[in-house]
Amino acid sequence: MKIAVIGTGYVGLVTGACFAEVGIDVTCVDIDAKKIASLEQGVIPIYEPGLNEIVSRNVSKNRLSFSTELAKVIPGCDVVFIAVGTPPGEDGSADLKYVLAVAREIGRSMCDYLVVVTKSTVPVGTAKKVKSSIEEELKLRDSTLTFDIASNPEFLKEGAAIEDFLKPDRIIIGVESEEAEDVMRKLYKPFLLNGHPIIFMDVPSAEMTKYAANSMLATKISFMNDIANLCEIMGADVNMVRRGIGSDSRIGNKFIYPGIGYGGSCFPKDVKALIKTAAEHGYDMQVLKSVESVNEFQKSVMFNKIKRHFNGELSGKVVALWGLSFKPKTDDMREAPSLVIIEKLLEAGAQVKAYDPVAMKEAQHIIGDRIEYVHDEYEALIDADALMVVTEWPEFRSPNFQVVGKLLKNKVIFDGRNIYDAKELQELGFAYQGIGVHEVV
Ligand code: NAD
Repeated sequence: MKIAVIGTGYVGLVTGACFAEVGIDVTCVDIDAKKIASLEQGVIPIYEPGLNEIVSRNVSKNRLSFSTELAKVIPGCDVVFIAVGTPPGEDGSADLKYVLAVAREIGRSMCDYLVVVTKSTVPVGTAKKVKSSIEEELKLRDSTLTFDIASNPEFLKEGAAIEDFLKPDRIIIGVESEEAEDVMRKLYKPFLLNGHPIIFMDVPSAEMTKYAANSMLATKISFMNDIANLCEIMGADVNMVRRGIGSDSRIGNKFIYPGIGYGGSCFPKDVKALIKTAAEHGYDMQVLKSVESVNEFQKSVMFNKIKRHFNGELSGKVVALWGLSFKPKTDDMREAPSLVIIEKLLEAGAQVKAYDPVAMKEAQHIIGDRIEYVHDEYEALIDADALMVVTEWPEFRSPNFQVVGKLLKNKVIFDGRNIYDAKELQELGFAYQGIGVHEVV
């Protein structure tokens, strides 16, 4: 089979590389000529574990290529995936201009039956709009060509994207015709061999499944953050509560870790978009509105703790930040809680020294030189008044606390991810504050 993947971001590039990995002929297309030039030179513009290797292996086998010219790539393809961005518009709804621009271009350049698949996260009804856009273009060409649409939302997690794509929990595909179902089943067959399920459904249900999944995950996070905040007030320890509730098989122990709020390119925008879609149809998503407001509140929790610790006086204080990306193993800084914490610290007159294993370049694009970027986690501690853990990168989990204590001016740790043990730190003479746990002063 031959396919094209339009948009070579986190989703498009991983999708293209993984289909090539199972022997499919893939061309990845992007309008960003710099990105395509860089990919052609073997330079991957994003950080994603394993992506470099899989891309270069498949390029060298001639199964994966790159282009900026959609019109030249479409002829001969069986399937085209639309994997461009769907950023939030000013009102919170998903901005579909990139998706629909691609649909029109497909309509202008297709020359045979084609399955057009939306992989971008798009509100219910978008596949219909994609279909109309292609039909309008075909009409302008007086063409009688036929095509099918399908919705195939993506569930990969940044930081584990390759593994998630190659070994998916499930593949969701919305279709309107048997022909499209057959094509999609054939395309995904290599990923199903080890029992990974494919679930076919109608197109609106597939579109909704993605929003419902992300909203449920965001809800779990905000719920646990709410419980953590209450634990602090009531003298309970959320780490124990988490283990206690996670052992109930109806609840499960995944995704119930409290922290400094969710971020990234998906949860914030998808929750917003679902609230907006519902409102447009006269329905009030009450739970999700609370999920959002708890999340906003949570981004300030660590700042409030550090401010309280220094008796409201942060001016001139130096704060070492470990981690900047919204989660480990990615350089993605979109909606990262670190951005809110940094703004608050700077506003309060503090200086920030930050270290992140891969996101510092990306962070510098957004924050500029208003903070200091250092080469490793220990360098960040030199002359710092406190350490704040923002992202739970594995390498921060077991630092040499003797060295940490020696380098810091004050032995104070604010742990935004609850990765340390309060008792152990107390024994080592540190003051310690986590999220929803007993503080050690
Ligand atoms: P991204 O911003 O990293 O990449 C999007 C790419 O599309 C960019 O390279 C951009 O240049 C390109 N593009 C825009 N218009 C184009 C056009 N007309 N023709 C060709 N290329 C074009 O986005 P992403 O993070 O890969 O997300 C893509 C979609 O997948 C979004 O809808 C997102 O919500 C969804 N999604 C993302 C993730 C994730 O973890 N990042 C996971 C699941 C789903």
